[in-house]
Amino acid sequence: MTVESEIRNVIVVGSGPAGYTAALYTARASLKPLVFEGSVTAGGALIQTTEVENFPGFRDGIMGPELMDNMRAQAERFGAELVPDDVVAVDLSQGIKTVTDTAGTVHRAKAVIIATGSQHRKLGLLHEDELSGRGVSYCATCDGFFFRGHDIVVVGGGDTAMEEATFLSRFAKSVTIVHRRDTLRASKAMQERAFADPKVSFAWNSEVAELHAKDGKLAGLALCDTVTGETSELAATGLFVAIGHDPRSELVKGQLGLDDDGYLKVASPSTRTNVPGVFGAGDVVDHTYRQAITAAGSGCAAALDAERYLAALA
Ligand code: FAD
Repeated sequence: MTVESEIRNVIVVGSGPAGYTAALYTARASLKPLVFEGSVTAGGALIQTTEVENFPGFRDGIMGPELMDNMRAQAERFGAELVPDDVVAVDLSQGIKTVTDTAGTVHRAKAVIIATGSQHRKLGLLHEDELSGRGVSYCATCDGFFFRGHDIVVVGGGDTAMEEATFLSRFAKSVTIVHRRDTLRASKAMQERAFADPKVSFAWNSEVAELHAKDGKLAGLALCDTVTGETSELAATGLFVAIGHDPRSELVKGQLGLDDDGYLKVASPSTRTNVPGVFGAGDVVDHTYRQAITAAGSGCAAALDAERYLAALA
């Protein structure tokens, strides 16, 4: 184990819109942030997508990887030190916090910003990954617009699935909610809104069993009846998976306050966690909005909160 001699002002963990924005702001405030980008998914969730049409400032849209390259370069330009490595352990209990990388090197800092994002749950089907962005989506707000006139399937039985289905019905020719049981988990109000929508129908006691592709795009799917085991075909060119997200908060479990679903708790509207000098930003905190712009906004807020915290220490 090596312990770095330098005590940094701030370490940022995460390199999505929240992490890079926190890096940009802290770098411009001359705090020389050290940023752990992660080894496999540097650049965050938008690296996995194609066109992003709703990030302000790009009139004609921008490809997700290009947007993230720009954010990275912008943070680096102002002196952020970017490391494409994972943080494997943290100790946030003291005034000087420690962050350990995969080589076992311990980095020390007065403030830490946690921006590790969240992971949407997948169905785990063959071809699911290659069809992501080509008919398969995990975010109606992000992608609904691309599905004008399509027959769409939404998988899930909770509030998110109902909200996505009723939102998508504005664009879609039809929306079928596929749910593995015969009752919904969603709140009464959300259920009623879905039941009242003339474009929304339900496939009860059903699971998506197979995805069919044509020319690299989703062309249909097979359903399996969870009671009888019978299969049937459904002609759909859009599939929205709305079965939940898992915040990436394992790293700080037992050290920072988490809610029942594992999201990092902050003293909203600030980004302060329950430990002084530790701040949370982006989808690891956010149950509700989960957008690149909201993640970037909270990354900015975390940087400003960290800056004020450090100024008060001086
Ligand atoms: P993320 O972008 O998830 O980044 C988290 C980062 O943390 C990653 O870089 C990861 O490597 C790093 N990390 C995690 N653990 C560690 C660790 N232990 N050590 C070091 N690093 C770590 N939003 C929109 O606004 N518009 C869209 O069009 C849009 N399309 C989307 C398409 C897809 C396919 C997906 C999955 C999401 C889409 N979103 C879109 C949502 C958007 O991507 C997220 O809301 C946003 O990326 C969240 O930003 P974040 O910085 O909180 O987390």
